[in-house]
Amino acid sequence: MFKIGCHLSASKGFLAMGKEAVSIKANTFQFFTRNPRGGNAKEIDTCDIAMFMRYCEENGIGRILAHASYTMNLCSDKEGIQKFSIEMLSDDLARMEHLPGNLYNFHPGSHVGQGADAGIQLIADALNLVLTPEQSTTVLLETMAGKGSEIGGRFEELRSIIDKVKLNGKLGVCLDTCHVNDAGYDVTNHLDDVLCEFDKVIGLERLFAIHLNDSKNPFKSHKDRHEVIGGGTIGIDAIAKIINHKKLRGLPFLLETPNELDGYAKEIALLKTYRKPDLL
Ligand code: FE
Ligand code: FE
Ligand code: ZN
Repeated sequence: MFKIGCHLSASKGFLAMGKEAVSIKANTFQFFTRNPRGGNAKEIDTCDIAMFMRYCEENGIGRILAHASYTMNLCSDKEGIQKFSIEMLSDDLARMEHLPGNLYNFHPGSHVGQGADAGIQLIADALNLVLTPEQSTTVLLETMAGKGSEIGGRFEELRSIIDKVKLNGKLGVCLDTCHVNDAGYDVTNHLDDVLCEFDKVIGLERLFAIHLNDSKNPFKSHKDRHEVIGGGTIGIDAIAKIINHKKLRGLPFLLETPNELDGYAKEIALLKTYRKPDLL
């Protein structure tokens, strides 16, 4: 089954997102757990969640992906921001348990001059504080473009975080196609090599989701600006290979392209025309 969806606004609640997903023929979606640039979270509405879960079952919506706020930086050089980020992470994961068995993705963080090793250690320390053996959520580290002092532009950095986390059975990775392109992994011309490298360094069994984006910037630009599907430097031919690759095609693909809902509907319809049928 082609698992395809996009980023949706969480402002009207879960049931509204479910209905929006169905209206654009998506069967999964991503949402922000709280204000992406602030940090405030809405009160959990158990009624909305119950209706949403029933709606998902009836309408074939599969695993969904929560995205942490951009203000979260577990490896900030400021203790206040570190503490605030750990609280946010812990609160987000507690909330996620109202929707058991889903995915939660976050940007590893920016070490702001402390060095990658120090940053990696801080991120691992935070995860060691917050992850619990009981949680049903899989926490995903997102591959980053390597902008500024961002951690996660290299697969090796994600590997070292995973290695330092005791409950790393709860950890996985979300691969963002725009970010890896900008970081210098050539998914456009050498997809097989990139996936081989991912497997060697991290292990493909850790890959749980794909952020499917084209890029406004050239390969290895370390920029991170998403483009609509087919409108950027990755291009539709490479994107078609990505959604059909035997090692990726079973994963959920989430669009984070610069679109409103109707644009997402068009991209989902377009991608479906490029998707090859599943072999029985
Ligand atoms: Fe992201
Ligand atoms: Fe992303
Ligand atoms: Zn991005």
